[in-house]
Amino acid sequence: MRDDGQLEHDIAQLLDDPQYAGHPLREALGALLQRYDDQLTQLERLTSISDGYQSVLRARNESLTERYRKQIRQLQKIVRISDHYQKMLQETNEALKVASSQDPLTGLPNRRLMMERLKSEAALVARNKSPFSLALLDIDHFKRINDEYGHDIGDAALTSTARALCAGVRAYDFCARWGGEEFMVLLPETSGESAMEISSRVCMSVSTLQHSSLPADKRISVSIGVAEHAPGSEIAETIKQADLALYKAKHAGRNRVMLAT
Ligand code: GH3
Ligand code: MG
Ligand code: MG
Repeated sequence: MRDDGQLEHDIAQLLDDPQYAGHPLREALGALLQRYDDQLTQLERLTSISDGYQSVLRARNESLTERYRKQIRQLQKIVRISDHYQKMLQETNEALKVASSQDPLTGLPNRRLMMERLKSEAALVARNKSPFSLALLDIDHFKRINDEYGHDIGDAALTSTARALCAGVRAYDFCARWGGEEFMVLLPETSGESAMEISSRVCMSVSTLQHSSLPADKRISVSIGVAEHAPGSEIAETIKQADLALYKAKHAGRNRVMLAT
């Protein structure tokens, strides 16, 4: 097939050829060639407009894709930051929970946590009808330890005493620092008499303990008040009874256990 350029060239030559001057088809062929040229020009313009439009469209698509990717990256970053804060919040909550229920010096549960335990134990025994007991312990003449050796040594002696008394009770008994140099032990499902036996053992083991922070011959003793919690009675009343028994143990000469009557 002849290419379009060659055909156009041939027709233009025929039209210029003087031997065809005045030929009846010459004028029509000239007009046809002109129309062909016009349409070709128009087609080229349309093609260039379409090309331009296509490239604008492509550029817009590319910028949309890039914007979309950027937003995805930003969202991923936000999710990472949010995860990080969630984790920090969880850790802070955990730390707060520990701080609000643990004594920082001895690491024992504090009075707040012991009160919670006492309340739930009291509710439990009100249904089970079996008693539990409380032992309230107070270090004897602890002020003298501070006065003689200083507060830091006093802290260390307090901590070793706490460790000894917790080691002396059963695994399911619950020890807490009640405040200052006082401790409380909750002895579940234990009568006052059994609690007396356990407390006497603790009293003895504390009084024989050698403290690494104190001179080798220095001993620390505790006085203990024990009270049995009868099902249905008030926990505040049982604590008061244990406190009274402790007071009696102090007045009877310290380093001993008394049962509330
Ligand atoms: P008692 O036998 O009558 O209980 O005599 P005590 O000296 O133990 O009792 P007192 O209530 O007079 O003194 C208690 C002392 O315990 C005074 C206080 O400074 C000390 N103490 C309380 N908490 C701490 C503590 O966390 N660290 C130290 N180092 N001392 C403490
Ligand atoms: Mg005291
Ligand atoms: Mg004391």
